[in-house]
Amino acid sequence: MEITSTGLEALSLRPLLSSPEWLVEETGFDPHQINVFETKFTIGNGYLGTRGSLEEGHMAGLPGTYINGVFDHFDSFIVELVNAPDWSEIALWVEGGKLGLHTCKVLEHYRALDMKQGVLYRFTRFEDKDGRITRYESIRYASFAQQHLCEVKVAFTPENYTGKVQVAAPIDGEVFNLDLEPAYKEKPQFAPEVKWDKWTKSKHLGQVDSGVASNNGVYLEMKTLERPYHIFYACRLNMIGHETTITNRFDYEKVSQTAEVFVEQGTTYHVEKLVSIYTSRDVDKPGLRKAGEKMLNDGLKQSFEQRFAAHVKSWEQKWEDCDVVIEGDERANHAVRFNIYHLLITANEKDEKANIGAKSMSGEGYKGHVFWDTEIFLLPFYIYTQPRTAKALLMYRYHTMQGAREYAREGGYSGIRYPWESADTGHETTPPWTADGKERIWTGEREIHITSAVAYGIITYFTATQDEQFMAEYGVEILLETARFWESRLEYNRQHDRYELNGVEGPDEFHELVNNSVYTNWLAKWNLQKSADYFYWLKESYPDACTRLSDSMRLKEEEIKAWNDVAKKIYIPFDPDKKLVEEFEGYFKLKEVPITEWDANNMPVYPEGYDHFNCGGTTLVKQPDVLMLMYILPDEFTSAIKKVNYGFYEARTMHKSSLSPAIHTIMGIETGNYEKASQYFERAAFVDLVDNQGNTEWGIHIASAGGTWQAIVNGFGGMRVINKRLSFKPWLPASWKGLSFKVKWQGDHIQVYITKGKVRFIRSSDKSLDLQIEISGRQVSLPREKEIVVEWD
Ligand code: BGC
Repeated sequence: MEITSTGLEALSLRPLLSSPEWLVEETGFDPHQINVFETKFTIGNGYLGTRGSLEEGHMAGLPGTYINGVFDHFDSFIVELVNAPDWSEIALWVEGGKLGLHTCKVLEHYRALDMKQGVLYRFTRFEDKDGRITRYESIRYASFAQQHLCEVKVAFTPENYTGKVQVAAPIDGEVFNLDLEPAYKEKPQFAPEVKWDKWTKSKHLGQVDSGVASNNGVYLEMKTLERPYHIFYACRLNMIGHETTITNRFDYEKVSQTAEVFVEQGTTYHVEKLVSIYTSRDVDKPGLRKAGEKMLNDGLKQSFEQRFAAHVKSWEQKWEDCDVVIEGDERANHAVRFNIYHLLITANEKDEKANIGAKSMSGEGYKGHVFWDTEIFLLPFYIYTQPRTAKALLMYRYHTMQGAREYAREGGYSGIRYPWESADTGHETTPPWTADGKERIWTGEREIHITSAVAYGIITYFTATQDEQFMAEYGVEILLETARFWESRLEYNRQHDRYELNGVEGPDEFHELVNNSVYTNWLAKWNLQKSADYFYWLKESYPDACTRLSDSMRLKEEEIKAWNDVAKKIYIPFDPDKKLVEEFEGYFKLKEVPITEWDANNMPVYPEGYDHFNCGGTTLVKQPDVLMLMYILPDEFTSAIKKVNYGFYEARTMHKSSLSPAIHTIMGIETGNYEKASQYFERAAFVDLVDNQGNTEWGIHIASAGGTWQAIVNGFGGMRVINKRLSFKPWLPASWKGLSFKVKWQGDHIQVYITKGKVRFIRSSDKSLDLQIEISGRQVSLPREKEIVVEWD
């Protein structure tokens, strides 16, 4: 929307925004879309995420602030990421009347997420019942430069009146998580304005203390009711350049500062609300208040312009490493950046004990739990653009080993078994039942392939970074423990002299109880063999570390040898001559039910009579399973096998997970199914921008965002690691004139610029040796600091 400024002077915060190609915009207000926009407009800095709700609150709103790693399980049905106190609230009262969507006529309303700078901007013109028109702008951000600081700045202008205005800035700790489900599931259907009121809610926080902070601000300290986390907020409201009186107010679980000012018609007033946030995850409980007040004081010593500039500079550095440019398709470029934006605000390189939930920190879907999404869908983005962040994500698996060890013991197994859904301890947190209590959820018990996903993540990271210190100190230990789990979980079948994994669930969750899932078995075998390889690597490269680890694990070389012996005998129900892989034993005997209908977003519609819970007897597939395996272990299958399997499984895949389309893009390109690949790319890249899964209100599909980045780099760029060597096999859609991205590889920075038939590389490196890579099957040497242009076909 073009902002038609009817005002008396130009908008004052709007000029802070980047150029239009970096903006995601909302024009007007639609209660049906508001929760989707709240998700899309989430801002964050890896430490926390805050949904893009309107500052003054309104009916239909679903505000949320989530601090990474702060989980609780007080009266919720499962442990979940806590909805923390809301720092972003701010409201204006004109002559005693609140400015809001329900109390005023909204003359204009526009918002924009600025992906380049990580800020949410808003412009609204309110007309109250007495005809007073107020022009209101706000900008908010969670500082990227200083993760413990958040800020909202408001500029408002009384267009046609003079009078008394109060600006109230609360820290609201009276917050809840949504719990199970609405009170009535069938009818009546609730209007969006009231639907969340009808949901059961969970309370996770209680007030510990509140008061006046040393810097004339106010503070609120709360504590999770079941877990031991304390959360401390200090806040200070400032009206810039005008005489105001500030009043503090302390309610239970809510503190606020209110500024009162006599405003003149036509003058613009600037208000800044600066908030510092710490938890007992960051500093010891007794030091919380000191840390929070100091952070606020330090922030207050700077002007808004200085604080904002530091934040923007940090964003610039991130984009420098991660940006993707698609020439010839601005729309696709915009969508890709939107996905990268969300990847950037949700990971924290400074926190090794937190990870990324399936909906990032943008909503309560999946309760903030961590899945295989991290290692398989998200990690590649971080490995190749920000390896330090990738390391922190893997260290989370190291720090949650104790829980994973106990989980293995509970099932009678050795080593460590990672939970399908993980929170703060490494114990299984998958809910056993659907929210309505009607369907049993088996994924926690059966999707054991998560354990090999972690091993896969570690090895992928190490191959790309050569971070030997990580591998020697942490990575190998995890690998060895996962191998122990597999060895104890595998079942020996005497009759066939082979090892099997029965009673499992592969990535395709339509089939909840299967034997010998090819994906699961193949990766278990791979995990055992790689663990053995890395044991010998450690022994050779770091003998002392190897001795220490072997002693602490009571590990003997015979055990390693046994892993290799067992691995050789793992049953893989696959005949390479037939090319087509049977997803699991008996899959080919299931009923064929063709997909015949697609919805407006080109997503398959369940055939009549089928839904999520009854496809088990059919060959319909929820998401890539066999194809997933062929993607993540690219050198283990021939092109012919990949082609045959893409043809077969793509036709049967319902894409009822947002993880699906990106993989179908990549494998579509690899197998020459270019038209399909392009369609799937559209579905992956726009999943949240157009809400094509219909549930964006619950949070960003962050694994799809990671998958979208992979679709760019591994799909269109055709990047693979074959025999530990980087290779590229590009393909561009007809309308794309060029595609550029950057990757980090073993300490080098490589810029890749693909145009029709040509690819240009620029490699920055500390090493004097050329880097050997492959382009479309041909070997190419990349010298350092020199541009190389190679042809591809
Ligand atoms: C998918 C899983 C995924 C989970 C969280 C499910 O719908 O089937 O593969 O890990 O969502 O994103």
